[in-house]
Amino acid sequence: MVDARTKEKLAARLEQEHARLELELTDIGKLDPSNPNDWHGNAGNYDTGTADSSVLADRFEEVSTNEGIVTELEERFNHVTKALQRIKDGTYGQCSVCGEKIPAARLEANPAADTCVEHAE
Ligand SMILES: [Zn+2]
Repeated sequence: MVDARTKEKLAARLEQEHARLELELTDIGKLDPSNPNDWHGNAGNYDTGTADSSVLADRFEEVSTNEGIVTELEERFNHVTKALQRIKDGTYGQCSVCGEKIPAARLEANPAADTCVEHAE
């Protein structure tokens, strides 16, 4: 189990990462108003009436790339959000599969880890 001081340090790192990810997501994506855990690429405005097909193709490519980054950031963001929730709940540092303690070294490497080494993805 991680000691209180280490846990505090890891919590601070998670808070920091959480804030940074939120900023990045706000920058390139937008939050689904009906689901606070679901971010979407910032598609901008499509005006299919006036743009010719090559411009549209370019735009679609841009958006799909953006969507990929947003999905990655979103996964990490939700992961960090859950870790912060576990700190609040007092279940931080326990494997979500078997309930065993996650080694401190693993948490130092990835403060958002929610599984022991054996149950790592
Ligand atoms: Zn486990």
